[in-house]
Amino acid sequence: MDADVIVIGAGLAGLQSARRLQRDGHRVIVLEAEEAVGGRIRTDVIDGFRCDRGFQVLNPAYPAVRSWIDLAALDLQRFGVGAAIRDATGIRTLAHPLRHPRHALGTLTSSRLTAAELAGLARWIVPTLLRATVASRATDDETLHDSFDRVGLTGPLRRDVLDTFLAGVLADSSGTASANYVRLLVRSFALGAPGLPSAGMQALPEQMAASLRDPVRLATPARAVREGAGGVEVSTDSGALRARAVIVAVDPQRIGELTDRPAPATHGLTTWWFSAPQSPRRGRFLVLDASRPGGGPAGPVWNTAVVSEVAPSYAPAGRHLIQATTLLDRPDGRADEHAVRRDLERIYGVSTAGWEVLVHHVIPHTLPAQPPPLVDRRRQRIGEATWLVGDHRDTASIQGALVSGDRAARGLDGILTA
Ligand SMILES: Cc1cc2nc3c(=O)[nH]c(=O)nc-3n(C[C@H](O)[C@H](O)[C@H](O)COP(=O)(O)OP(=O)(O)OC[C@H]3O[C@@H](n4cnc5c(N)ncnc54)[C@H](O)[C@@H]3O)c2cc1C
Repeated sequence: MDADVIVIGAGLAGLQSARRLQRDGHRVIVLEAEEAVGGRIRTDVIDGFRCDRGFQVLNPAYPAVRSWIDLAALDLQRFGVGAAIRDATGIRTLAHPLRHPRHALGTLTSSRLTAAELAGLARWIVPTLLRATVASRATDDETLHDSFDRVGLTGPLRRDVLDTFLAGVLADSSGTASANYVRLLVRSFALGAPGLPSAGMQALPEQMAASLRDPVRLATPARAVREGAGGVEVSTDSGALRARAVIVAVDPQRIGELTDRPAPATHGLTTWWFSAPQSPRRGRFLVLDASRPGGGPAGPVWNTAVVSEVAPSYAPAGRHLIQATTLLDRPDGRADEHAVRRDLERIYGVSTAGWEVLVHHVIPHTLPAQPPPLVDRRRQRIGEATWLVGDHRDTASIQGALVSGDRAARGLDGILTA
């Protein structure tokens, strides 16, 4: 045997499985197809700018992050708790009045925050906030839009803020995601201010990989998995490896290459990264567009942020970094640079003539779909010695990927030590 367990894939789920198994005293080999760890969490450094592969944030309130990640070492640079909303009259910031007192008056007098909608929002989220864990996730579930309708969230707060913000988070503007899943995400947003590690999002998986005794074998794709008497054989381009068990931690669209399980449906987005000589807007808030008559974005950009205002380490001194996200389930999700620039000029009210595109990330498989009913503890043992892990087995998030990896490792530990 080359190891007790072979882990295929060094995304968060695979890395957490490997770390847990190592801690429990098992010999682990981790194979990664790419030349770096991280999977969907990678950071490109371009001309001194840190461009994450698709805009994303780390929420320090995720229970798995609090338990297993050294957050202090990541040196999170936090977003403001709220959002800046663009409409025909300008940009107004809606922010947590206690955390951002400067915006308290504007927030509390905003016509978007009607008493009826705030009461609806409270009915929608407070029960989830009060529970330490969210039980009965699969029962009483429904689509996000139905759940908003049911509590009377039908006005401008929903149209201009919640629907647009959540579509960006889910990479899904259809409103058909599981309401219970979204409640879990919103709970984390309510309990913690998301941020960006000073070295980029990839610092998260790199921290995890650094604690492995045997380094991840990079640029080593697994080609096939075969169960046999007493264990498994994993083929690679440089020969076969044998172990007592295998954890398949590959991205959702690749599951079918190594197992007999179907790939889950996924949602996608694109992120444009621009450098600029001046910041188009001061402040640490995500900017949402609500300029379409009737609410919501008027163009292809669903959210944008001056990332260097939040995370100065993402740009060289004196320069600025702007992200703009489009959604692939929208007809204009693949809008070209010209259309995106035009939209950003309208949103920020500045010319983008001096801006340069650093990179455009198109990520069709950003997140697995999570329709109701929410099943967040999917079966992971799919053979005598084969486990399948990833955010598609739990919740479609950093939290879900970590929990999925950890859950499989704990299950396997019981079997390996029996
Ligand atoms: C643009 C974007 C924005 C996001 N925003 C957020 C956010 O704000 N908050 C949040 O909580 N989550 C967010 N997510 C989701 C989060 O990043 C994922 O849920 C999580 O990273 C998934 O980890 P994973 O280990 O399940 O899978 P992956 O990260 O996909 O890892 C799979 C790994 O397997 C490797 N692999 C594939 N095939 C093979 C093979 N044959 N052999 C060896 N290795 C192989 C891949 O190279 C990859 O490294 C976002 C994701 C993206 C892409």
